[in-house]
Amino acid sequence: MYILYDVADKIATITLNRPDAANAQNADLLNELDAAWTRAAEDPEVAVIVLRAEGKHFSAGHDMRGGGEPVPDKITLELIYQAESKRYLEYSLRWRNVPKPSIAAVQGRCIAGGLLLCWPCDLIVAADDAKFSDPVVMMGIGGVEYHGHTWELGPRLAKEILFTGRALTADEAAKTGMVNKVVPRADLDSEVRALAEQIATMPRFGLRQAKRAVNQTLDVQGFYAAIQSVFDVHQTGHGNALSVSGYPILTNLDEMKAAIK
Ligand code: ZN
Repeated sequence: MYILYDVADKIATITLNRPDAANAQNADLLNELDAAWTRAAEDPEVAVIVLRAEGKHFSAGHDMRGGGEPVPDKITLELIYQAESKRYLEYSLRWRNVPKPSIAAVQGRCIAGGLLLCWPCDLIVAADDAKFSDPVVMMGIGGVEYHGHTWELGPRLAKEILFTGRALTADEAAKTGMVNKVVPRADLDSEVRALAEQIATMPRFGLRQAKRAVNQTLDVQGFYAAIQSVFDVHQTGHGNALSVSGYPILTNLDEMKAAIK
């Protein structure tokens, strides 16, 4: 079980529970996570959803060692596109549009695919040790599958972190508006709980429509269409890597791990 699920006081808490692997995401973890979101969305007892992570880090991103599903003999762009459409695009969009407020609690590293878990949440509270990064340009790819970067950070900072691979601190992320609040690491769970409890006292339909108002405004501005088309830009990175090396990414993993330390 990679995901823990709990409901108390109208708050569903979904916990990434793979701390020994820094909550790296394999197919099983993401499928379980999606099931938990669906459960919270459908449970009439639940007013607010909290997404949190066990351990030192929120998520190290996609598990490059795979796991959860057998790897086919020959990797094609069609297979990559199919798997990533489901888990890295449709899942994130679905979570974003769950008609209940959600809060992500982020500590430690949140790398690449980690952003696909917290960006879809309505609010993000970060511990003061949180660091957000998307270093996939090192792998010959233009950014993770779900392009929240430009929306969350604005075009210049989005380009800077993509071009350099550097991590944003929690304070920097708060300054751009990507993070609502930065709190001491020891207070992360209690602060998020207090915020969730406060929101849970509000009328349900008002919350639902407030969320829809903001998301709909972003969609009218092009969010949905941009997310879809940049997903395809992302896939050209995999296509190029496959044509060059026969593998979906370019840089070898050890070099990448060393670079993002
Ligand atoms: Zn990808």
